[in-house]
Amino acid sequence: MIPYATATAGAEALGRPLSWAEATWLRYTSATPDYCLYYLNSVIIMIAYTLAPLPLALLELYGPAKLTSPYKLQPKVRVSRAAFLRCYMDSACRLLVLTCGPLLVVSYPAVKMVGIRMGLPLPAAGEVAAQLVVYFLVEDYLGYWLHRLLHAEWAYDKIHRVHHEFAAPVSFASGYSHWAELLTLGSPAFIGPAIVPCHVTTFWLWFVVRGVQAIDTHSGFKFPFSPTKFIPFYGGAEFHDYHHYVGKQCQSHFAPVFTFCDYIYGTDKGYRYQKASLAKDN
Ligand SMILES: [Zn+2]
Ligand SMILES: [Zn+2]
Repeated sequence: MIPYATATAGAEALGRPLSWAEATWLRYTSATPDYCLYYLNSVIIMIAYTLAPLPLALLELYGPAKLTSPYKLQPKVRVSRAAFLRCYMDSACRLLVLTCGPLLVVSYPAVKMVGIRMGLPLPAAGEVAAQLVVYFLVEDYLGYWLHRLLHAEWAYDKIHRVHHEFAAPVSFASGYSHWAELLTLGSPAFIGPAIVPCHVTTFWLWFVVRGVQAIDTHSGFKFPFSPTKFIPFYGGAEFHDYHHYVGKQCQSHFAPVFTFCDYIYGTDKGYRYQKASLAKDN
């Protein structure tokens, strides 16, 4: 809870006038306990997970094949409405019951301990951007190794095979996983903020951005005009689609965000070989 209730008291505490965003934040959160602000993340995650995949899902379901096929990574595969609904219901329930429930509840004392801020000042845009870059790098590195472990025979058969039920991924499949995988691969998202603590608004934004990134990666589409093309070393949908296409036997493309971990550890060879073979045949 912010220890002052008015903009004047806030300006005195900061030693400068409050920005419009800071005055708004103070007005709406000064009486809100910190744990409420933190748990609001669960509502934000659920709204983002429900709304962000919708445009791609509608394109997959109702887009004319003539228009969409050139951009589909596996154009012969069309996912039914029933499969979309089952995918959403299953993953939303698990997300709500696990990630938004216990993981957020259990992490609250740790979040307070590492110093996630809830008050003023609000972070500058540059600070937010730098923190998000760090969080993505941490998540990518840890996610790479955890995903690689999930491809060990026992872990794949017991846990990871659920996520691979979609050999041709679709937007909602980003969160379609066994509960143990949601907990395992969801944990690195908390490590970045633990190493570099941020403001709670950055924390909310981080969970939305990483959710949207996972949806993009599982979209099943490769658009020529995607802004992600400008992100250095970004893997994207084509990179991850190959991993789903090969399935259990795949020993390539474990990293969830960027391409460099697979390059450094030599787990991009299968994909490179396939690309080179296709180029030779054409
Ligand atoms: Zn996998
Ligand atoms: Zn996947």
